Amino acid sequence: MNRSIPNGSMGDYRRFESAFSAARNNGLFRHVGGLYDETGLLGDRWPRMLEQLRAAGATNLNLGRLLEGHANAVQLVRLYGDTGQHALLEEMLETDAILGVWGADGTPPASVETGDGSDRLQGAKRYASGLGMVAHAVVPIAGDGGVLQLYLLPVDDPARQDLSAWTVSGMHASASGRYSFEGIAIEERMRLGEPGVYKTEPFFEGGIWRCAAVHLGGLETILALTARQLEASGRLDHPLQTERLGQAILAARTARLWVEDAARRIEAPKSGETVQHAVAAASYTRLQVEASALKVMETARRAVGLSSFETDHPLEAAIADLSVYLRQANPDALLIHKCRTMAAEYLR
Ligand SMILES: Cc1cc2nc3c(=O)[nH]c(=O)nc-3n(C[C@H](O)[C@H](O)[C@H](O)COP(=O)(O)OP(=O)(O)OC[C@H]3O[C@@H](n4cnc5c(N)ncnc54)[C@H](O)[C@@H]3O)c2cc1C
Repeated sequence: MNRSIPNGSMGDYRRFESAFSAARNNGLFRHVGGLYDETGLLGDRWPRMLEQLRAAGATNLNLGRLLEGHANAVQLVRLYGDTGQHALLEEMLETDAILGVWGADGTPPASVETGDGSDRLQGAKRYASGLGMVAHAVVPIAGDGGVLQLYLLPVDDPARQDLSAWTVSGMHASASGRYSFEGIAIEERMRLGEPGVYKTEPFFEGGIWRCAAVHLGGLETILALTARQLEASGRLDHPLQTERLGQAILAARTARLWVEDAARRIEAPKSGETVQHAVAAASYTRLQVEASALKVMETARRAVGLSSFETDHPLEAAIADLSVYLRQANPDALLIHKCRTMAAEYLR
């Protein structure tokens, strides 16, 4: 695959390459995969997962994106895989292979064509993070009646990867392009779990807390860069800058408390807590982290000023990446659909 990054600065890409190589060589992907037990549960290891994801996002959001996708895929294989798929997963973790979850459909969308005695895949996935880095992906594809069937597929064929489709203004290094599945014959060992299992909660929507943890790392880095710059320029104690920074700290701390709360509710529920409420809390966490991140990024720009826009300023890349990565599917629907569950305690 051509690893050149459209519109991306070489500096950003090199920073990612160095963070990614260090993480992989230090066994981070293997370690994070190992936090899930053999049945796919995290339990009281959730603070360790949260910290690994947050720290990866703080170092480099592209690395955080890959680590989060990997954790998600490992959990799905452990939850729904058969003995052969479990063995394949262990082999991949031992060799520091990287996995992903590629759900967003391309044009035409990924589908299954039933032929004489064999089924073949058609179409493509888009926004498929880690092109050229991810070895196997968990891929949900709609079957009869629109029910999603998961597949565990090798995705390392350079001829099927199209990075030219990833031309957004940040997160270049996540290499979230298009992958064509056209013509791949489906073997039985590729089907992962029963049709429909993908949407099982609290693992489906509830898993969004992991993504929020990576965002949290990104926003905390932007806050730290801003505070250090104000301190270095002798402007931190100006009352308006102090007020601005204080508001950003409130936003960042709020995001952190929401992420910790959501992770605990999803992964280690207390008696009496429902899955429905945990999932709604995780969904609202994504929205709160987005709101906090927007606040912190605006603060950084206003507090530091024009120099924060210089192309080699660390804030420029950090803000460009977080601005893109915050854009996740359908925030309006989350706000509306989870409101009744979140409102229940105020309706008593
Ligand atoms: C860096 C990055 C990496 C990614 N990597 C992966 C990956 O590895 N695998 C993967 O599967 N996906 C990946 N994605 C894609 C991600 O899962 C989402 O598909 C994508 O981020 C959705 O963003 P969107 O803005 O297109 O969402 P949209 O849902 O289109 O939201 C845009 C706006 O439209 C509103 N809206 C949504 N639906 C409607 C409607 N019907 N009517 C009116 N308004 C509507 C929303 O509330 C929002 O305001 C990645 C995304 C990013 C940013």
